[in-house]
Amino acid sequence: MTDPLTAAIDDRRAALIGLAQDLIRIPTLNPPGRNYRAICDYLAARLLAQGWEVEVIRAQGAPGDSDAFPRWNMVARMASGRAGDCVHFNSHHDVVEVGHGWTRDPFGGELDGDRIYGRGACDMKGGLAASLIAAEAFLATTPDWRGSIEISATADEESGGYGGVAWLAERGYFAPARVQHVIIPEPLHKDRICLGHRGVWWAEVETHGRIAHGSMPFLGDSAIRHMGAVLEEIEHHLYPLLATRQTAMPVVPPQARQSTLNINSIHGGEAEPPEGYTGLPAPCVADRCRIVLDRRFLIEEAVDDVKAELRAVLDRVQSRRPGFSYTIRDLFEVQPTQTDRGAPIVRSTAAAIERVLGQVADYVVSPGTYDQKHIDRIGRLQNCIAYGPGLLHLAHQPDEWVGVQDMIDSAKVMALVLQDLLS
Ligand SMILES: [Zn+2]
Repeated sequence: MTDPLTAAIDDRRAALIGLAQDLIRIPTLNPPGRNYRAICDYLAARLLAQGWEVEVIRAQGAPGDSDAFPRWNMVARMASGRAGDCVHFNSHHDVVEVGHGWTRDPFGGELDGDRIYGRGACDMKGGLAASLIAAEAFLATTPDWRGSIEISATADEESGGYGGVAWLAERGYFAPARVQHVIIPEPLHKDRICLGHRGVWWAEVETHGRIAHGSMPFLGDSAIRHMGAVLEEIEHHLYPLLATRQTAMPVVPPQARQSTLNINSIHGGEAEPPEGYTGLPAPCVADRCRIVLDRRFLIEEAVDDVKAELRAVLDRVQSRRPGFSYTIRDLFEVQPTQTDRGAPIVRSTAAAIERVLGQVADYVVSPGTYDQKHIDRIGRLQNCIAYGPGLLHLAHQPDEWVGVQDMIDSAKVMALVLQDLLS
């Protein structure tokens, strides 16, 4: 298809590549949160030069914020001066650690054929670059548009988003009076609309024991053996039950369409010896053992039932094991969320995907959460999706890359959404 708007994006191919490369070359590693100010200043300079109103805001006092690693966010707004809705593109600017196994420079932004390589290429600097180019092409070709456009680059999505979207949402940046439509260009792929995510509950379970000399374990009570009984109960009764619980949400991959449970860690008895210690361990009965559980639940489940179900597992173990006692500590919870398929941002994006790609959009739900949770819960804004270039399975991997044509196509989709909603 050729029309002035999508042609304007084809014209910006080199600019899009250069922008994505520049963003990848700023190593915004999180943790601990490096170069946040640098990436915000880079984006601010570009957008200020085009006449956007720009704020660079530190999430002072947010979890993780310190003078050594301040949590900087950039929010830019372009108002038409004519009444209308506001469409907001929100990208996180932080990236996860590099890890091992790279054959490319993780912060080189190397272009090879259709691919740009680097940590954060798909998750999600490619999406951030595509949204900027989409807005720039729309503004250049649509003089009589109405409403406003916002672009934000926010901190800490990879560590929960509390120094980024959550902090901004608490201060009204995603209030429905200010913003009516949100696209988060996470790497869900150019033909898929992500409507939301499953719920999360993290909890720590501790079993209690009594310390004694390891040569006379009968004088103590092993917290590790108690935890073994808990794990056995989870293995034989809870896992099969979770596998039977299926959701109507279109979660991808399909194996995540059931309730899931991961045992994140287990620690019991004597602590690991300090590095460099060359002696033997001391003989002790473990007086405590802890596991951290990561339970992902479905929109059909209530978080209180999820918690009660685990408590029932522990109570069953308690009823048949003398001396068994436990404590549960809540660590973190997020409600599942799913934007309605009839919502304006969903319908508009689906129509744009059909125009650009000539195929019907796929609707998906993410197995894990992302910043939509804060926009939904704190911002009270339901009209929000994730849509952007890149393949989700490349995120956080060595040799992460984003496809140039995928960025072009998704920038066209985003630009057509602006055209639909703002002109
Ligand atoms: Zn991401």
